[in-house]
Amino acid sequence: MTTVGILGGGQLARMLALSGAPLGLRFLVLDNTADACAGQFAPMVVGDYTDQAALDEFASKIDVATFDFENVPAESARWLAERRPVFPSPRALAVAQDRLAEKTLFRELDIPVPDFAAIDSRAGLDAALAAIGTPCILKTRRLGYDGKGQFRIKTAADADAAWAALGAQADTVGLILEGFVRFERELSVVAVRGRDGEFRAWPLTENWHVDGVLSASLAPAVADEALAATAVAHARKLADALDYVGVFALELFCRGGVLLANELAPRVHNSGHWTIEGAETSQFQNHLRAVLGLPLGDTRMLGHACMLNWIGAMPDAAPVLAEAGGHWHDYGKSPREGRKVGHATVRADSAHALAQALARVGVALGRQEQVAPVIARLT
Ligand code: AMP
Repeated sequence: MTTVGILGGGQLARMLALSGAPLGLRFLVLDNTADACAGQFAPMVVGDYTDQAALDEFASKIDVATFDFENVPAESARWLAERRPVFPSPRALAVAQDRLAEKTLFRELDIPVPDFAAIDSRAGLDAALAAIGTPCILKTRRLGYDGKGQFRIKTAADADAAWAALGAQADTVGLILEGFVRFERELSVVAVRGRDGEFRAWPLTENWHVDGVLSASLAPAVADEALAATAVAHARKLADALDYVGVFALELFCRGGVLLANELAPRVHNSGHWTIEGAETSQFQNHLRAVLGLPLGDTRMLGHACMLNWIGAMPDAAPVLAEAGGHWHDYGKSPREGRKVGHATVRADSAHALAQALARVGVALGRQEQVAPVIARLT
């Protein structure tokens, strides 16, 4: 019996555990909150990621470790990797944890990126503002997610406010200034690389964010083949350079037909949730297969799929369940503003049928705004 240890006990760990059950796997989750939602399906060790006693207990009970949460301290990941196989590797994790290291690697690999500069001081911010120009975004290098730890600078007059908001973090998590990309669309490649280097990508996904948080994903993205092939080639180059093992997502901006890399997420990703019902093999199943050195499953799509995120509170399930291709995922979390509490995936055999189903769901739930950009893309 193989036990997979997961650092972090959120919905990603929960869906990994659900996906691993048919493989006969057991799971153990390490999280600092006793009511983490993965704990409803897997035993837990409750403790901080830096708590030595918790790490000792966790390591002693697992065969292999992986992550639901990428901001596990690199030192803890390295400590664990000395005792058990850990995938993705602490090195890949460390690169993805730091926006500066990540963007530097993208650039080294000839993957286009927005302009960026490391910011160490107030004077450094002024110099970078002069070089990059406005609008731009000041971001924390580490520990930011879902648009948190970011300040949008519209004109140079916003520099004081940006520094007041984030300047204190220059010496702790570090800061990076990025040129603001007036993108036409946001895309992601969700891909998997096995222990033996085998690489597979799911079809390109288009994503819509509201207030920096993912709202909807559509797959396959409506995009020409050359663009999709370029996106996948970027992802592959990155995975090979990091000797990456497991599933990851590469988030991209598309502007004037050019792809600019925004972020590497070193884990199963929200923009890949549609793969549970919309692909031959889901991202969760393939992540486990990769981590365990098993053959990877086919990533081909089954028709067209749209994932809708539920933020704050779960809506009524009935309109989605009433759809032939409607699928419901309630993460078992208590409602809280801004919290990802669940998602739905609507799958259909054609783009037209998907648009119709989304229109019905949007009206029934009073969420026309959420589905509108997806329907517009499909029609
Ligand atoms: P991130 O945490 O970097 O993924 O940012 C969250 C969201 O903010 C992205 O999905 C974009 O919608 C937006 N965003 C982040 N960086 C930029 C940028 N350099 N230019 C334009 N929009 C951005």
